[in-house]
Order: sequence, then C-alpha cells, then structure tokens
Amino acid sequence: MMRQYELVERVKAYNPAADEAMLNRAYIYAMRAHGTQKRASGDPFFAHPLEVAAILTDLRLDDATIVAAVLHDTVEDTAATLDEINRTFSPEIGTLVDGLTKIKRLDLVSKRAAQGENFRKLLLAIAADVRVLLVKLADRLHNMRTLQHMTAEKRARIAQETLDIYAPLASRMGMQEMREELEDLSFRNLKPDVYATISRRLADLSAKSERLVESIEADLTQRLAAKGITATVKGRQKRAYSIYAKMERKSVAFEQLSDIFGFRVVVDDVDTCYRALGVVHTTWPMVPGRYKDYISTPKQNDYRSIHTTVIGPKSQRVELQIRTGAMDEIGEYGIAAHALYKDGSPHLATESGAYQWLRRTIELLAEGDSPEEFLEHTKLELFQDQVFCFTPKGRLIALPRGATPIDFAYAVHTDVGNTAVGTKINGRIAPLLTQLQNGDEVEIVRADGQTPPAAWESLAVTGKARAAIRRATRSAVRRQYAGLGRQILDRAFERAGKNFSDEKLRGALSRLARVSTEDVFAAVGRGEMFSGDVVKAVYPDYKDERRSNAPVPAPGPKPHVNGAGRLSLDKDQTVRLTWPGRDAAGGEGAGQDAGIPIRGLDRDVLVRFAPEGGAVPGDRIVGILTPGEGVTIYPIQSPALAAFDNEPDRWLDVRWDVDGGPHQRFPARLALQSINEPGSFAQIAQVIADHDGNIDNISMRRRTQDFTDVVIDLAVWDLKHLTAIVSELRAKRVVSRVDRVNG
Ligand code: MN
Repeated sequence: MMRQYELVERVKAYNPAADEAMLNRAYIYAMRAHGTQKRASGDPFFAHPLEVAAILTDLRLDDATIVAAVLHDTVEDTAATLDEINRTFSPEIGTLVDGLTKIKRLDLVSKRAAQGENFRKLLLAIAADVRVLLVKLADRLHNMRTLQHMTAEKRARIAQETLDIYAPLASRMGMQEMREELEDLSFRNLKPDVYATISRRLADLSAKSERLVESIEADLTQRLAAKGITATVKGRQKRAYSIYAKMERKSVAFEQLSDIFGFRVVVDDVDTCYRALGVVHTTWPMVPGRYKDYISTPKQNDYRSIHTTVIGPKSQRVELQIRTGAMDEIGEYGIAAHALYKDGSPHLATESGAYQWLRRTIELLAEGDSPEEFLEHTKLELFQDQVFCFTPKGRLIALPRGATPIDFAYAVHTDVGNTAVGTKINGRIAPLLTQLQNGDEVEIVRADGQTPPAAWESLAVTGKARAAIRRATRSAVRRQYAGLGRQILDRAFERAGKNFSDEKLRGALSRLARVSTEDVFAAVGRGEMFSGDVVKAVYPDYKDERRSNAPVPAPGPKPHVNGAGRLSLDKDQTVRLTWPGRDAAGGEGAGQDAGIPIRGLDRDVLVRFAPEGGAVPGDRIVGILTPGEGVTIYPIQSPALAAFDNEPDRWLDVRWDVDGGPHQRFPARLALQSINEPGSFAQIAQVIADHDGNIDNISMRRRTQDFTDVVIDLAVWDLKHLTAIVSELRAKRVVSRVDRVNG
C-alpha cells in the first residue's frame, strides 16, 4: 500500500507548489474512515482509493483532484459526511466527492427506462466539474484491474457497463490510453475465450515480428533523417480488443503486421508533419483510402494526427500516425493533458473540444427529451466517431460514423429530410442507404409533397433524423387512415340512404366525443370507430337494419397497392389486404407459415424471408412489399435493398415480435474462407456444434491450393447466437475470413 510520504512525493514531483498539508490530511482522514474495511480480494479497502489517486498522479492532476480521489468512497461507504468534508477540506473538494457519491449509486446497465435516467444523472454529476469524471474513470480502471475477485455475474455487469459507458466517455474526453485499457479489461471479462485466443496469437506473431518492427523503425528514422527531419519512430502493439473490434468491423482475420502494429512518428512542429508525410509517400506507395488528416480537421475530442498506410520496408503494410509531441500528449491523455496544473488554477481548460462536447450534451438534457430518447440520442450519436461531409455549397456537416444521406438531409434541415427522394455523392447518384465517408460531398435530391417512408426511421443513425421521421410518418399514416375512413363513411352513408357532408359530421362531433372531422375519419380508418355509429351520430333517428351485412369491399385500394391486392373490411372493420390466387397454406420456402413473428404487418399478407441468408431476430429489418406476392423481409444491411431505393412506397416498417425468448430457429448463411489442412472442416463444424448451431448445408464454392471458400447454411436462434458463432469462428487459426451473406 502506498505510504503517506509516497503520495506527497508523487504529487510534488510534477507540482512543487502542492498543498502538502491537505494531502496529508486526506490520507489520514480516509485511512481512519475506512478503518478495517476489506476489499473482495482481502486487501485493506484503503489501498483502493490510494491506487486511484496514484493513477491520477500519472495524469499529473491538481491537488483537489488527488484529494477527492483519496476521499472518493468515504461518504458512501463510511460514517464520513459531506458536511465534515466541506469543513475539513473545502467546498470545492466537497463538490467533487458529492458528485462521485452520486455516480456510485447509479446503475447504468439496468432496465432501459432507468438506464436513460441514470445516464442523464451521470452526465449532470460530471457537468458540475469534469474532474469528477477523471476520478470516476481512474476508480473504474482500478476496479477493472482487480475484477477477478468478484462473482462472475458482477464481473460481467461491471465489464458491460465499462464497455458501454465509461470507455466511450474516456474516448470522448480524448483519453485514449485510458479507453484502451478499459476496453481490453472489459473484453477479457466478457469474452474470456476469444480474448485468450487472440492474445495467444498476438504473442506468437509479435515474437516473430520483433526484428521486423525494429528494422522498420530504423529504416523510417533514417529515411526521414536523410531529408533533414528529426523524428522519433516507435512501433506500438495494438491491444486484443482493438484487434477484435477490427475483425468484427471488417470481417477479416488478422494476419498482417499492419493489423498488429501501428507506427508513430513524432516530430517537432506541424510543418514537419507534412514534410515527413511527403517523404513517406514519395518513398513508399500509399494504400488508397487510408489517408486521413486530423491535423487540418481535428476530431471533436481534439485529437490531431495524420494517418496513412503504406507498403513500406520489406513489403509490409505499415500504418503510420504522424504528429507533433504536443498532439501526441493530447492524443494519449486528452482532457487530462489540458488539465495539467497551471498557476494553481483548479479549472480545466474550458476551451478544449472535449469540454465543449460535454457542455453541448448537458444542454441537450435541458431540452427535455424522454430518458429513452435521450439515451438513444447520446449513445448513438455522441459516442461515435464523426464523419465530416460537405453540402454542394461547401458547408461542413459533422455526422456520426455510419450515417447515411438521410441523416445528412435532416442535419441540413428537417424540410430537406422530409422531401428527400435521392442523393448524389461526389456527383454520382447513390443509394440513400450508402454509409457516408469523410469528405463526401452530398447533394440531396428533393421532391415536394413527399413523406419519408417509415422504414427510414430504422435506417437513420442520428437522433434528429429519427425523431423527424417519426413525426412525419405519424402524420402521413394518419392522413392515410383519414382518407380510408372518409371512403368507408361515404359508402356507409350511401348504404344507409342518407346524405353525408363534412358540415353534417361537424354537427355530430360532440356526440362522437371527437374534436375534428379529421379525427373521426382517422378513427374510422383505423377501425377504432364503427361507420354505423357515425351514421347514428349524424342521424340519431336512423335504425341500422343492415348491421349484420356481409363485409363490403372498400371502393379503392390504397395507393401503393397498385390494385393487385384487394383491400376489404371485415366484420370488425379491420382493414384486410388479400392477394388473389393465394391461400395461407400455399407458397414456397420457409417463413410462410402463420407463425412468423413479425410486428407491423396487421394485414393478411404473405410474408417470407429474402431467399439468400435471411434475417434473424435482432437484425434490423424492413419489409419490401411486392404487389401480388406479399412482403419479403430483408435485414437492413442487405445489398439487395438498393434495388428498391427509388420506390419508398414499397418499404414497410416491420419489427420482430419475439419477446418470449427463443423457440424457433432462423436460417442464416455464412461465407468462410478456410486454410486447406487436414481437420480444418472438422474444427469449423465443431465450433458450430459447440454453440448449438444447426448446420443445414455446407457447400464448397472454390478451392485453391491454400484456401477453400465454403458457404454454410445454418439455423440459429437469433443475432446474438449467430454473432457468438461468428466471433468464435473468426478466432480460429484455420479460418481466414468469415462473412455473413445477406440476400
Ligand atoms: Mn471506488
């Protein structure tokens, strides 16, 4: 355990003006408060706040932060009170400890509604003073480092919370070093098997590459020196989690040096960064699509660096980060680098981008979204890396990674989003589903009188776009129902032999307990109100003699049905859409049975999955309506969807209806590349069997001397199940590539 004088020395090493007496007081106060408390490991509890303080001294933080770290668990876990801390130390330290006490009580991976609210409270506690977050991150880091003493359930819970909330927050604050360690420790606890496999291969490969890394470092340094550039070049091994995330993202196995090592070139000033880049690019061919200039366009968390990949020395792909020493410091320590002790001022650099982000997020809180919407908004939007795109007039639009032209359109203006019908990216017509890339110039093609298809809501990534689409489709759907209701009422009055007009209906509104005629039309259209009741409300003397009549076909189909389906009203006045020449039992292939668990299709429509590699529960899905055929369900990532991009009327917003847990398997298709060696098939089959996957079919597509391409059709419970199988396959040495095939 760190001794009292050691703590003081650590702080004095970077801050000679530190308040020694206050540090000593904190040490003794916390030691007394925690007394004989023990951690799960059996160590004295007091060792924990000291370790947390030590982590923060490495970040060279100010006295108040260090003292708050030493005291951070006293109010929650001991007899100490906030009043006492205010009096013994200062209100400033009291505020920090209070923030930490509040955060400690939050459960951030609880049920969804509570999760949103708790996350909001977390941000508010941080907003009081960013140093609260710095202490909390150090606290979480130490807890993650010592997680092995907890029960399996608690470990999983804490690791998940770390991965979902704290690692992204550290990233947002620009603290990459902290983020990487938090992610790696979470990964290790959440997926011990995959972690072990990757770590073992990492160790193997890095032992083999050690010489190579040294020679690349030397070669780069010399080439730069020959052009008069002094640079420090350092190869840096990536962590297991970042390799795993890359494997997941790009569906590849790792094999190359560039997958394992990144090289960092640190020079004196910005000018030299670009000169060094020039030397690198004129010496070795660059790999297209990998060049990023975060010096001219810094990330929101102030990260600045040039990224490029070249086919470098020894024909190795080499990933390079070129930056100045100051950029390097901010790249590693982020907001904590800004927080270096300055003139005794306890305030963090409020001009930093990370801090600005925090402020903006807090402002969003004030706009009063519901907790769930807020969580969706922040999780999806603010924790992700950005892509920067431009309007044709050169306006910069920052969007989260994964954003589509739909998000872009709504970011420009809600009206632009609502009337978007197509897009040109860099001058070429592109599907609205395209994921935007940094630097794309995006032009939105608009048409008046459009309504965004409801399915767009699940395609949009930004909270703003989703909310706007939800609003627009809500009113469009209402208009559709109202149109249908009006037709139904026209017929009903005609049958009754009575006159009907808006005027007459208005006179009966109070009897129908509705505010407007539109309300009545929509209610009838939705089947919430019977047409007979409306007739009676308008003509109270009317006797409905034909109440039990057979269903009457509605006068016309809905616009997007094309007349091929038959729209009718049954006895309960629910809308039914039936397709001529088909009955429920007929048809080909899986998924046609009545038990298909899809919500959003309240009509008698034949439903089937896309023929090649359909969707499994957990996938985001859309239905494509084909008149005369029914609805085909596609996973949202399916490339086949691009074919329907210009026909928004055919897109149906559908959802899974599988709350009761797994009781049905779904077909999925994987494309694998395996290394040709005895037993490789057996290993692959074993992984699938171990994970309770059913193999329906395996077919060999192509075989070269070294590799075999295999397509596996298997039946899985849901996406989680499928993902587990894919991760495990990717970690196998005999598997060089796994892709999910979507029809
Ligand atoms: Mn703690």
